[in-house]
Amino acid sequence: MPPTKRIAATHTATSSGKHHPVFTSGRLPPGDDDTYNKVPGRKGVVEKVSITGTAVAFVTMSRTRPPNRAGATSFTGHLTITGVYTTPPGPIDLPAAIPQLAPLARTAIRLHPRRGTPTAEQSSMGGPLLWPADEPWPMCDGPRGYDHLDGWPGEAEAPLVPVLQLYATDVPQLPFPAGADLLQVLWCPFDHEPWSSPRPQLRWRRSADITDPRRLMPPPDTEAEPDHVPDPCVLAPEPVTEYPTFDLPQAVWAQVRDQVAQIRQDTGWQYESDLAVAPGTKVGGYPGWTQSPDWPDCACGAPMEHLLTVASWEFDRGDDKRWITREDRPAMAGWAPDGPAEHPWLAIRNAAGLMLGDVGGIYLFVCTACPARPFDYRFDCC
Ligand SMILES: [Zn+2]
Ligand SMILES: [Zn+2]
Repeated sequence: MPPTKRIAATHTATSSGKHHPVFTSGRLPPGDDDTYNKVPGRKGVVEKVSITGTAVAFVTMSRTRPPNRAGATSFTGHLTITGVYTTPPGPIDLPAAIPQLAPLARTAIRLHPRRGTPTAEQSSMGGPLLWPADEPWPMCDGPRGYDHLDGWPGEAEAPLVPVLQLYATDVPQLPFPAGADLLQVLWCPFDHEPWSSPRPQLRWRRSADITDPRRLMPPPDTEAEPDHVPDPCVLAPEPVTEYPTFDLPQAVWAQVRDQVAQIRQDTGWQYESDLAVAPGTKVGGYPGWTQSPDWPDCACGAPMEHLLTVASWEFDRGDDKRWITREDRPAMAGWAPDGPAEHPWLAIRNAAGLMLGDVGGIYLFVCTACPARPFDYRFDCC
């Protein structure tokens, strides 16, 4: 029996009674698409979240007071998704069929972001971070060269926005430095050279050290590009096995090309899109390049390892055959890129509401030879 996803929705009004959460299910009201996927408190008075799985529901949070500039953590409704997501296996045992690929297998952890209201004690994408109250929030130091094109020349400093928070209990495969059990990824949502993309920062922490956590995250800069500010998502990490595409050595490709073609002929499954690198936001595995690989080296001389990829979309036409999870398939029936805006596939493919360039990704790399875990990043897009 396939695993089922439990959807539990609990809403509480604030003591002031100014929030009046309403639970509804069914289609979004027509004409409200422009408020879809917005962070509560950032824009508009109505927020809609689509939850997908064995059922589809929309939650409408009605606010009767102006959006709270303190940001998403003031959201008083609670929506808990306990998701189990399963990537279907490929049609064949790939390392058995093509032994040359076996040593190139890597484990990636698909994070399966879905809209929700994570707390600082949960792993999340775009959610509140467990942050020491007495530690200043990181600010980007503003225009430099062509940085901050959107705000130039007015934006002196912009708060970084939460992108990912990963606890070791959820993603033990991360290369935590000694004593750490929490990784936080933030970035400045403005365009930065050299790729006109957000610029990330990392924090490795020991969660037990944070006894007095910050209660509210600062709101994003009002001129920040909404496509660069992830909407709050809960995560459901799932390990999968990957094989390289862009990172496949040319000499190996020459050896396996005919077998790959034979598999496609026999099964209809294509190595590059269906059997190799998982799309979407993930930890480890191979970077979700859309262009030629560009691996950074550490200053110590060691090549860096792929830490994680933050992707615009979880899948697209062409790789959907393999990478849409079993649990999501019922809700994906009839999906098409030009389909109606309220179709639930939007919330599966693009839960965090990101658009990095033209469906691009940001790839973070880390040196595991250096105890301080220096990192670097790359950006590319179609
Ligand atoms: Zn910046
Ligand atoms: Zn190093």
